[in-house]
Amino acid sequence: MKSLRKLLSLLLCLVTILSLLASCGASGDYRDYSYFAMDTYATVRLSRKSAEGKTISKKRADEIAEECAAIIQKHEKIFSVYDSDSEVCALNSQIHKMLSPDAALLSVIETSNTVNRLTDGAFDHTLGALSALWNAKDGGPVPTSEEIAGALTHTGKNKFAVSDTSITKLDEEAKLDFGGIAKGYVTQKVLEYLSTTEVASGIVSLGGSVGVHGEKADYNHYKIGLRDPQNGEEILGYLYLTSGFVSVSGETERYFEADGKRYHHILDPRTGYPADNGLISVTVHTSNGSSADALSTALFVLGLERSMELYEEGTLDFEAVFVSEDGTVTVTPGLGDRFDLTSGDYTLPEA
Ligand code: AMP
Ligand code: MG
Repeated sequence: MKSLRKLLSLLLCLVTILSLLASCGASGDYRDYSYFAMDTYATVRLSRKSAEGKTISKKRADEIAEECAAIIQKHEKIFSVYDSDSEVCALNSQIHKMLSPDAALLSVIETSNTVNRLTDGAFDHTLGALSALWNAKDGGPVPTSEEIAGALTHTGKNKFAVSDTSITKLDEEAKLDFGGIAKGYVTQKVLEYLSTTEVASGIVSLGGSVGVHGEKADYNHYKIGLRDPQNGEEILGYLYLTSGFVSVSGETERYFEADGKRYHHILDPRTGYPADNGLISVTVHTSNGSSADALSTALFVLGLERSMELYEEGTLDFEAVFVSEDGTVTVTPGLGDRFDLTSGDYTLPEA
């Protein structure tokens, strides 16, 4: 059963990626590489030409792709909650204090803290005790309300003391979970590396996070296909981007069913239960990889109304596409005509 679920989620990821690749124009201009890493499917698409118009050899492109894979693997060793050798796993299970934590870990904690503060705590990287209890990856079972209340006593920023030189766990049972931000961070790291190479343009995608690099060969926008959250084989619409990062959070990305009810993996840190506010998917576009990822998770928890208030308040710089379970698609005004709804199963609210 577990392996079937794993296969199904891999297929879902494949659908997202295929739609992405199919939407990138003349594939002859690019080389595609794919990996399975960070418990998800990753792709790197590299232009065959440098910014000066010179052809990049296959050998050189393979070398660049290998370095991209190495960057992803290096970060998997830091953030994975499943790899017992990872830094996060060590802190979650065996040790109380980590000296000289990796700069990546400190950077992700800093962004997590900022997003936590600016989203009324909707994003919470310290809810590892709760997400481990729900065990959405392996399909539950549904915890009891007592267990949830118990896990909630081991979440919160005050359970960890973080400085430039150490991370100290102040509660034996507390756990970190960077599942809502690490992929966006790593997507940005891979793109930063690509910008040091001769590759003129490209796309990196890691699970629900995508980043675009450089100017596209035909000087056009990158066309990013958003999967229909209710039918993974269909496209909801397209985002047209020239730069930045996109992250998608959705209840159909990972869930299990019990007693005829669906339990997904994005948890409301206030209640301890999967967020349940009428949204089925949130896509965020920002200039920063970790912010895009953390925000898509946070806005999914906050719901449409509060998310739009945050957008209007302007303390967080983002654009977003919200899909509600009634089939309404709400787009932040700043996206303008950069989002095109193509599925007839959904509607935009009347202007
Ligand atoms: P994403 O797909 O980016 O929305 O991330 C979802 C993952 O983030 C889950 O599988 C959990 O590992 C973790 N997570 C769940 N709920 C939250 C939350 N409220 N804040 C931060 N991380 C969360
Ligand atoms: Mg996220």
